Amino acid sequence: MTGRAPDEVVESVSRAFERTFGNAPTGVWSAPGRVNLIGEHTDYNGGLCLPIALPQRTYAAVSRRDDGVLRMASAQQDGVVEVSLDDISPEQPGGWGAYVAGVLWALRRDGLAVDGLDVLVDSTVPLGAGLSSSAALECAVAAASSDLFDLDLLATADGRARLAARCVEAENVIAGAPTGGMDQSAALLCDDAAALLLDCRSGGSRQVPFDLDAAGYVLLVTDTRAEHALVDGQYAARREACEAAARDLGVGTLREIDPAGLETALERLGSDEVRRRVRHVVTEIERVTLAVAALESGDLVEVGRLFDASHASLRDDYEVSCEELDLATATARSGGALGARMTGGGFGGSCIAIVRASDADAVAAAIAAAFEAEGLTAPVSFTVTASGPAARDR
Ligand code: ADP
Ligand code: MG
Repeated sequence: MTGRAPDEVVESVSRAFERTFGNAPTGVWSAPGRVNLIGEHTDYNGGLCLPIALPQRTYAAVSRRDDGVLRMASAQQDGVVEVSLDDISPEQPGGWGAYVAGVLWALRRDGLAVDGLDVLVDSTVPLGAGLSSSAALECAVAAASSDLFDLDLLATADGRARLAARCVEAENVIAGAPTGGMDQSAALLCDDAAALLLDCRSGGSRQVPFDLDAAGYVLLVTDTRAEHALVDGQYAARREACEAAARDLGVGTLREIDPAGLETALERLGSDEVRRRVRHVVTEIERVTLAVAALESGDLVEVGRLFDASHASLRDDYEVSCEELDLATATARSGGALGARMTGGGFGGSCIAIVRASDADAVAAAIAAAFEAEGLTAPVSFTVTASGPAARDR
């Protein structure tokens, strides 16, 4: 299930723009959602992560304005939101419009000459499912802004990384969600049939071939429908715990802790809870390196083992899993998955599993049955392939 076809959404978002704003948009840009294969809660610790771009995308039909006004509407929300660029702040426009307005605010603060926009959004990325609809929205708008204001930032990896950094600021400062940089880098930099190995300390990245089809496997994504809420303080609390632990250990970020010296480092920390948080981060960064090596040598069994280990660490040490994620991953494993883990910030959201192509429907059905037996909201499962980055569609 990838939902509506891209061409269909490009057409309908253009028509919705025309209905709402009275003329045709200058163009349509889109950016993908993502799943992170492994490396969770590592981005804000200067660590490594390994996202792929999804075929599901957020589309933005956009025209520029020359009066400093931003107007925006979304097929997923009611009404038209309007704000002057000068008035954009954490309070204004608030709500979903903050993700769009924040991008213009951040580009402007970077000294780039942007003006107002009319924006009509439509998306095939489920909202709030841990698949990063927020970054897809920001990055579609950033891509449109780059083209419409002749910023020319889409042509090079450096330019795209700069746009990603502005989108992170939009989300952190204006939308008020203290997320790391993975989602926006994925949406702007991931290639087709590849995962992006992102080094959140250096900002560097490289493509790692990711094509399960060739080996007869698929990546099954299950949106558990359990509400995740990054803005609600749990995510911020984890982030603060890591920053405090890094200070106690005398390092800039937990990336500096050598896995070989982990036990010694843990002994210097005051509480069992903080020790477990640090152990997750340090071992998870190491698992990313191992997963990249396993992918490069075609060892999917090892990748699966690392998925399972990552999930256990997130559940037991980092404590960001939940009943739905534990049930979905356990059911996928008993259905024959090579490995399964929660993906994204946690407390709900989605799980990913590597399953034989011929088993995908049966595993999805088993997860649905397990949820029904527990009286949980019906989950939504679909297979995905690694897709391309933010781009102009029309
Ligand atoms: P995720 O990024 O995992 O989907 P977030 O909580 O980070 O979840 O972001 C979801 C929020 O992003 C929504 O509540 C909404 O404010 C905004 N958003 C994302 N996509 C759209 C869209 N297509 N139209 C309007 N708002 C959107
Ligand atoms: Mg998000």
